[in-house]
Amino acid sequence: MPREEHPEPGGEDRIGQLPPGGERLVIENCAVATVDAEGTEYPSGHLVLAGGLIESLGPGRAPADLPGPMRRIDASGHLATPGLVNTHHHFYQWLTRGLATDHKLFDWLVALYPTWARIDEPMVHAAAGGSLAMMARGGVTTAMDHHYVFPRGTGDLSGAIVRAAGETGVRLTLARGSMDRGESAGGLPPDFAVESLDQALAATEATVDAHHDASFGAMTQIAVAPCSPFSVSTELMREGAELARRKGVRLHTHGSETREEEAFCHELFGMGPTDYFESTGWLGEDVWMAHCVHMNDSDLAAFARTRTGVAHCPSSNARLAAGIARVPDMLAAGIPVGLGVDGTASNESGELHTELRNSLLVNRLGPHREAALTAREALRLATFGGAEVLGRAREIGSLEPGKLADLVLWRMDTLAHSTIADPVSALVLGAPAPVTLSLVGGRPVVEDGRLLGVDEEALARRTRAEAQRLAGLGTA
Ligand SMILES: [Zn+2]
Repeated sequence: MPREEHPEPGGEDRIGQLPPGGERLVIENCAVATVDAEGTEYPSGHLVLAGGLIESLGPGRAPADLPGPMRRIDASGHLATPGLVNTHHHFYQWLTRGLATDHKLFDWLVALYPTWARIDEPMVHAAAGGSLAMMARGGVTTAMDHHYVFPRGTGDLSGAIVRAAGETGVRLTLARGSMDRGESAGGLPPDFAVESLDQALAATEATVDAHHDASFGAMTQIAVAPCSPFSVSTELMREGAELARRKGVRLHTHGSETREEEAFCHELFGMGPTDYFESTGWLGEDVWMAHCVHMNDSDLAAFARTRTGVAHCPSSNARLAAGIARVPDMLAAGIPVGLGVDGTASNESGELHTELRNSLLVNRLGPHREAALTAREALRLATFGGAEVLGRAREIGSLEPGKLADLVLWRMDTLAHSTIADPVSALVLGAPAPVTLSLVGGRPVVEDGRLLGVDEEALARRTRAEAQRLAGLGTA
């Protein structure tokens, strides 16, 4: 921890925890990258937190005459940023990392579906715990899970995912996925891995009713998320969109990930993916889509016109040889873009820092070269951009008075970063920075690189045992 000054005598709370009695937490002497609309930064600044919110922030030290009880943290040598926001993931894949490592998307899916179709509730709970822990340890304060494999009779998988997020202490958007186009209907997943149209819609609605919280500061939100055009019927796309709008929740799916998907859409629907999405009600400011790699100018114009968001997943796109999404063009067109790790079967690290770094590096390999993305634009994708695509830009994604106290103190004075003068460049381009403190609504989730809600070693053993059990079922 940074040095704590003037601790409350006899206080038993953890540093950073904000009891409802109005005690303030003051963090000072750190660099601050607010990621607000102006990109305001303070080489040495302060933040005042109260009641789970950011009360004030600014340059220099905090005012000496703040009223009431408070704790002060001397965060010298640190950079404060908004907590990172992950916008695309498949937690269950934590149990199938490192398989089909030399495949492109469709072959990779066909290789893994039979194993994925054998998941059950204890496996999903363990896998969600592993995925969430890895991200939280790396500064993610809002996570997202697109879960679309629901084998029959395997328990309450959505409930297990929500439970795991509660144990880790981060905010969650659970995108309740679905597949109803099995092999016999021209889809990629085996028939035994898909639901019927009615089952998928009813179970999705039940998940919204059980877990969605629309209030400011919600810890859990639900989105409607049929998997992809090649695993979902047109009826499920259309009726899923209607369901989402009737319930007032967001819509998510995979889109325009590969050339094969584009060819598949032309063959089956007589149009490309973006036109297909538009024809089924799937463009709009309440929609965000993973990947969006193969987009022409008119596709980008349609996304910009409708304010449809994008979850950019550069590591997964590289791992599966999908291509490079046109992120600089998306940003120039005003399309909301966030970052996603994607499932860990196609991005084994499962850390968002990898995406922060790779979004910059991969896009510089595209046509815009060195002008593609700056370090600050990459940080914006990982924070405010993510908040926008999850529909939470009012609450999170930047450090501003009145927003939730979701923030990270990154240590910048160790061997890994101490010779990089600019802390934002150090964070984006350097090694993953140690997380000294990560707060979600003012509550500490990580202290000194250690998860507070989860026993990491026990979780490593449990996830390994569940991965072995799944592998055993796959060969049985
Ligand atoms: Zn995905």
